[in-house]
Order: sequence, then structure tokens, then C-alpha cells
Amino acid sequence: MSRKVLVLGEVRDGSLRNVSFEAIAAGKTVAEGGEVVGVLIGDSVQNLGKDMIQYGADRVVVVEDGNLKNYSSDGFSQAFLAVVHSENPDGIIFGHTALGKDLAPKIASKLDAGLISDATIVEAAGEHVVFTRPIYSGKAFEKKIITDGIIFATIRPNNISPLEKDESRTGDVQTIQAEIKDLRTIIKEVIRKASEGVDLSEAKVIVSGGRGVKSAEGFKSLKELADVLGGAVGASRGACDAGYCDYSLQIGQTGKVVTPDLYIACGISGAIQHLAGMSNSKVIVAINKDPEANIFNVADYGIVGDLFEVVPLLTEEFKKLKV
Ligand code: FAD
Repeated sequence: MSRKVLVLGEVRDGSLRNVSFEAIAAGKTVAEGGEVVGVLIGDSVQNLGKDMIQYGADRVVVVEDGNLKNYSSDGFSQAFLAVVHSENPDGIIFGHTALGKDLAPKIASKLDAGLISDATIVEAAGEHVVFTRPIYSGKAFEKKIITDGIIFATIRPNNISPLEKDESRTGDVQTIQAEIKDLRTIIKEVIRKASEGVDLSEAKVIVSGGRGVKSAEGFKSLKELADVLGGAVGASRGACDAGYCDYSLQIGQTGKVVTPDLYIACGISGAIQHLAGMSNSKVIVAINKDPEANIFNVADYGIVGDLFEVVPLLTEEFKKLKV
């Protein structure tokens, strides 16, 4: 059963976030041989259309307006709904990012559509599309289908592999007009917290520290290991509460949910609330001096030892591999 599926391309600092390409791959599954239409919203984003096409979109629809320079629920929902009304899709896919989590429910309610959020697997099964999503903070998974109306879902970053980039692919990139008006919130300026390196939610490698790291100073050796591996630094709430690092690094039930290829937990006990944010990582390495620590129950590889000895040794060894 072929369908037309809209996929939102998420733009940050002038480039598409990786989750946009993962969403195109999910959109292809939902489309089942039908058409995947990329959607770009912003004030100057048309040039990114070719990237969506090279990653598998068949064509791209662009809405540009000065009022769309920065994200707002009002502005982006008006723009996206204009595309929905002109395209009349059978499916919609967003990334399950801060933007997607804000925008998707608003669009779904306007369209009177069901919404499956935070899907980690998308599969075509007969006449339905089956979405797998975590429940109970990741302790179990449920499979869901939408039986009536638009198939609308958000997908968790780093779970669905994007298609291989094909630079020979071409497709139409078309701008449509949408009236963006009556905005209740206008973002004048975005002031970013100074943060360096890889974005935590899209990092392939995360080196995460807990209360066992003992100080902000202690996090420096984790940062060195992360840098050698091309990864990002994360933290438990214990470490954030103790003031060792910023809450923006917190991983878990009340922090970020991450699914990197490699998660190295250093001095983290493995409380259920922490596991909720990282237990779906592809490979988990735990370093803890307590052999009974719960983190070892989810780890693929465990190192019982003092992180202040183990982490610098790992950094040295990985540096040798890079030479
Ligand atoms: P601890 O539990 O104190 O563990 C420190 C570990 O370090 C110990 O296992 C110890 O053996 C080890 N260690 C000490 N020294 C060394 C060393 N030199 N070398 C190696 N290992 C060492 N927590 C989160 O992380 N994320 C959340 O989103 C979150 N949300 C929560 C929401 C609610 C509603 C509640 C109630 C709690 C939440 N928590 C969350 C807190 C959670 O319950 C734990 O308190 C927290 O995860 C513990 O952090 P920790 O593992 O760093 O510290």
C-alpha cells in the first residue's frame, strides 16, 4: 500500500540535523514505495533541499518567512499545516527532539490525528505500519499501529539508520507561500550556553560521569577520553546535583534520553532513573569500583576498578590506536 509521507527536516546552525536523515529512512518504510516529501521551514533553508533528496526524499517543499528564522510553535505549526493542506499526506514523520516533541502534538491535534511518539523501530507489516516504542522508562517496549487517518510518528534519534547518501539523486525543491501571522511568541535572539564539541543527543560515543567522579575537575579526564573517541560527555543526576557539571548534560528519566553506539559509564551506580536514559545504548561499558553496582547488570563490558586509574589508561590506549 503506497503512501505519501511528509518528513520534517530539522535545521540547526544552517545544517540539517542527522535525525532528519533518519526520519527520511523511517518515512520510506511508511511510504511503502510511495512518495517521501521533505519539508523545510525557516527563513533561508532552501539550499538544504538537495541534502534531503540525496538522503532519499523524492522532492522537497520549502516554507520561508522572516518570522521563521527561529523556532516557535505558532510559526512552525502554521508553516507545516500549510504544507499538509497543499500535499494532503498519508503519513508524517518528525524527529523526537525538543522541536519535534513540541510541534508534533500541536499538529496532530489540529489535524485530529493520532500520534505515536518516540518510536525506535518502524516496520511495514501487511496493510499496517508497526511502530515500536519504549514504555515505563525503557523497561518494556510496546508495538503500536494507527488504524485510521494520517500515520503520524516521531522517531528517537540514533535508532533508525539513515539511507546511504546518493549524490546523483535529484528532485524538485519547491517553495510554497504560507501566511505566518498572529505569533504569540517572537524569539528575538537565541543565546546558546557555551558548549563545545559533539551534541549529546546525537553523539555516537558518550563518556558519562557520576558522583564517583567526585569533582568538576574530575570530569576533565572524561572529556579527554570523549575527545579521543570523537564523543560527548554526559552525567548522572548525582553528578549534576553535586555541582560537578551542568544539568544540560544529565542523562536519565528527567534528563536526556540517548542511544549512542558506545556509552561509557564512569562512577555511576546505575539507578533505575539513570538507566531510563541510556539502557538502549548499543554497547555499554561500566567502570565502577563496587562490583555489586547495578550498572553492571546492564553493561556489556564491566571494569571493576578506580575510574581515576582506568579512564586515563583507556585514553592512552585509544590515542595509540588513532596514530
Ligand atoms: P551514586 O548512586 O552515588 O553512585 C556513585 C557510584 O560511583 C557508586 O556506584 C560508586 O561505587 C562509584 N564510585 C565512587 N568512586 C569511584 C571511583 N573512584 N571509581 C569508580 N567508581 C567509583 N538520576 C539520573 O542519573 N538521571 C535522571 O534523569 C534522574 N532522574 C530522577 C528522577 C527522580 C524522580 C528521582 C527520584 C531520581 C532521579 N535520579 C536521576 C537520581 C537517581 O535516583 C540516582 O540518585 C542518581 O542517578 C545517582 O547518581 P550516581 O550514580 O552518579 O551516584
